[in-house]
Amino acid sequence: MIEREQLELDVLFVGAGPANLAAALHLKNQIAEHNERVEKGLHHGRKIEDLEIGIIEKGAAVGAHILSGAVVDPIALRELMPDFLEQGCPMDTVVTDDAFWYLTDKGKIQSPVTPPPLRNHGKYIASLSRICEWLGEKCEEAGINIFPEFPGAEMIYDENERVIGVRTGDKGIGKNNIPKGNFEAGVDILAKVTVLGEGSRGSLTKQVTRRLNLLEDKEPQVFSLGVKELWEVPEGNFDEGRVIHTLGFPSDTKTYGGGWIYGMKNNIISIGYVTGLDYIDPMLDPHHEFQKFKTHPAVAEILEGGKMLRYGAKSINAGGYYTMPRLYADGVLLVGDAASFLNGQRIKGIHTAMKSGMLAAETIVGAFDHQDFTSKTLRHFEEKFNSSWIYDELYAVRNFHGSFQRGRWSALINTGLQYLTGGLAWGYMPKEHHIAGHERMNTLVEYENKNEADKQRYDHLKFDKELTFDKITDVFHAGVSHDEDQPSHLHILDTEICATRCAEEYANPCQRFCPAAVYEMEQNDKTGRREIKVNFSNCVHCKTCDIADPYQIINWVTPEGGGGPNYKGM
Ligand code: SF4
Repeated sequence: MIEREQLELDVLFVGAGPANLAAALHLKNQIAEHNERVEKGLHHGRKIEDLEIGIIEKGAAVGAHILSGAVVDPIALRELMPDFLEQGCPMDTVVTDDAFWYLTDKGKIQSPVTPPPLRNHGKYIASLSRICEWLGEKCEEAGINIFPEFPGAEMIYDENERVIGVRTGDKGIGKNNIPKGNFEAGVDILAKVTVLGEGSRGSLTKQVTRRLNLLEDKEPQVFSLGVKELWEVPEGNFDEGRVIHTLGFPSDTKTYGGGWIYGMKNNIISIGYVTGLDYIDPMLDPHHEFQKFKTHPAVAEILEGGKMLRYGAKSINAGGYYTMPRLYADGVLLVGDAASFLNGQRIKGIHTAMKSGMLAAETIVGAFDHQDFTSKTLRHFEEKFNSSWIYDELYAVRNFHGSFQRGRWSALINTGLQYLTGGLAWGYMPKEHHIAGHERMNTLVEYENKNEADKQRYDHLKFDKELTFDKITDVFHAGVSHDEDQPSHLHILDTEICATRCAEEYANPCQRFCPAAVYEMEQNDKTGRREIKVNFSNCVHCKTCDIADPYQIINWVTPEGGGGPNYKGM
């Protein structure tokens, strides 16, 4: 029996992303406002004494595991801190020029009018990692404790299934599962309210939503994978402040996908490609889709003479409104991407994540006012969401991703209808239309019978290490590090399936959907068959394997604290 330290907090935030950092800061501000109203007799509640507020973060520092495009709509940030620019928020540049391209195999059609959801004029191009780092500093200045290198490993429940905190991961366990000399037991952090803002496919969020049935009556969650590189390009190749979104090449019409190119200061560009993790071709590889995107003449021209600097990949909760779990249970709230707050149509989730955190903070103030931390009080979070601008924004685009599951052309018609009717037209579509991505992947036989052409998908893709890069080269640019002497954090629940059924039915798609070359099928001379090998130290924590595996036998758990990619500044 391992002896563990206990730490008692009032509010524990899991994950130092935009949702939780905004939440923690807003909570501090709201408590001060609440106490002032009580003092002035404007509110007949009780004063809230100084709360112990903590944020745990699995990365080595705030921002290390944060990756996004990103064009930031500052609406929530402005509500949180009206003078965010004066306070030093590190926005890189202002968007001055928007374009939308439809890419054919070799050509491009520029839309004469940028579709309204993709108009970003006046918004900011930024590194979300840098913004989080800055918000983290603001939190610390406000007296909020941040604990980097503390991954949340397990939820702690009381005998009534109330969430009462989180157990952090143990450190110093060898790959043979035996504690090493530097072993440190994880800490039980107890809190009256725990807020899960772990981002897409959070491992604790997955535990809680299953155990407390928070997805009951909801549609299955649907995800996409964004793969990104930062490039430095020659002066004149691409203007600072220019934003381009693309549809078409290289995705086929059955696959949700699109690209982005954002011009930052000093000739740095953020370029990336999003692929829906509900694709049906088992041979598809989202990393390769991105590499192919860069070979399009209109894109390659921009990168000509440039140099790739950094790489990263991250999944996104793309399903939106219908796929949001219940946002509360006794002792716990879910915010940000962990709760599917992203607006897939705008490809934006930072502003909605921050606002969701702020509404959670206001709910928590109410909970301390009433000294009630059960669902009875925490359910107000959902009510606040329903009467906020995020609800209006997300409800209006509620069928966006689902309609792409019916193919690109039907999705474009639906998107146009929805825009023209202010979101009403989609109300006539059946609600139950999001299908979990892993259920959509076809077996080899099913797919080959349907589409011969796609089998040559990557025949002409070569990794020249100038314009296009193989996964290993890209991973090197993600700054990944994990101590190799620890148990793998990628738990395959039945490796026999990998060597048999999965090999036959899907040709082991983990080798393709993982953007970091973690999974390999290797010949085992003793058994005479190919078996799975897991290079866990390459993992960039995108969670794709946990999401996309057709048998759902890959469980991503938190590795030792501090391990993973280094996206600082990306
Ligand atoms: Fe992403 Fe899983 Fe690959 Fe890690 S192992 S990079 S989480 S797909």
